[in-house]
Amino acid sequence: MANNDLTKRIYLDYNATSPLRDLARTAIMDAHAFPLNASSVHAYGRMGRKIIEDTRAHLSRAINCPAAQITFNSGATEGNNTVINHFAQTYPKETILIGATEHPSIHDLPCANIKTIPTDHNGVVNLDALENMLGAEPRTSLVSVMMANNETGTLQPLKDITTLAHSKGALIHCDATQGLGRIHIDMQALGIDLMTVSSHKIGGPQGVGALAVGLCGVSPILLHGGGQEKKQRAGTENVAGIAGFGAAITQACDADILTHEQQRLEGLRTHLEKAIMDTCPNAIIHAQNAARIPNTTLISIPGAKAESMLMAFDLDGIAISNGSACSSGTVKASHVLNAMGTEENLAKGTLRISTGWQTTQGDIDTFIQSFTKILKRIKK
Ligand code: PMP
Repeated sequence: MANNDLTKRIYLDYNATSPLRDLARTAIMDAHAFPLNASSVHAYGRMGRKIIEDTRAHLSRAINCPAAQITFNSGATEGNNTVINHFAQTYPKETILIGATEHPSIHDLPCANIKTIPTDHNGVVNLDALENMLGAEPRTSLVSVMMANNETGTLQPLKDITTLAHSKGALIHCDATQGLGRIHIDMQALGIDLMTVSSHKIGGPQGVGALAVGLCGVSPILLHGGGQEKKQRAGTENVAGIAGFGAAITQACDADILTHEQQRLEGLRTHLEKAIMDTCPNAIIHAQNAARIPNTTLISIPGAKAESMLMAFDLDGIAISNGSACSSGTVKASHVLNAMGTEENLAKGTLRISTGWQTTQGDIDTFIQSFTKILKRIKK
């Protein structure tokens, strides 16, 4: 039965956005209690500055990147646009290689020199193809491959990719939006030169993110104007948002909490995927045998329409998504499933269930009951 009380509905769409963590809400409200412009020299300004530098230090530890190399921005779309546009404009005669399953904020950019690296049926970048493309003329300035896919959860073999790219003199950008808070990240060990993250996927506020630029010596700038963020990103900083991001990082990226949460979500996912296959043996769980982040399940139901199923779940008080959250308003087969070679008709019956810090075993059980009921209706 529909539950119109938004606090009582079941939320299984964490890859679209996560519920705000209590600690983040408190940090945001506390920062909003004062007029904090971090560029001001008075006590309020210094308080704002401290909040920003504290969050920078938290993020620096979480991803192993020097704090001075981290610039706050409005989120991953801005980070991704900034990096790709920087390389497209600075090296117009060189190639930018991107994964075929990248987020639209990379995949859909209108840059003439972008070429797409094919993937296998799990959405994993084809390393032989990458090596060939890196060896071709014109030379490659940048390889941009995401850490984890927002639709399938597939993890990319980043160490192999960075090693290949560096051997040919190219730099590596990684959109780690779905990786932060879901797996342990060590930017330096992975050899990532530039990395994009976003606050709202880990229980921080929306409209905040960061670009980490390792020690590769590149300085992509999106907004020119004031001297904020060491002139890398002009405009008065979003102090309250950055405060909330910092609070979320301390919870989502703490090494022990993260390890525990990974095991917990993996357990929920195993239970969910077994129940799906028991109920619907001809369902396809995409990238099920590939390395994935622990919170994501993407299923296709032959003959079903994602749009009708989404509405049926919504009526049952359960929020899930079809394919990419960023195109949730329109139901169309996603470029990710296309790249993985999924047949168009099957792709149209695809649902994404993504869990997170508030998800319980009870939520998964309620989803399974609803799934069983909706499936019976479809089969009639
Ligand atoms: N990259 C990936 C992989 C994402 O999942 C998203 C959010 N859907 C983005 C980029 C864009 O993030 P933001 O909402 O912070 O702009």
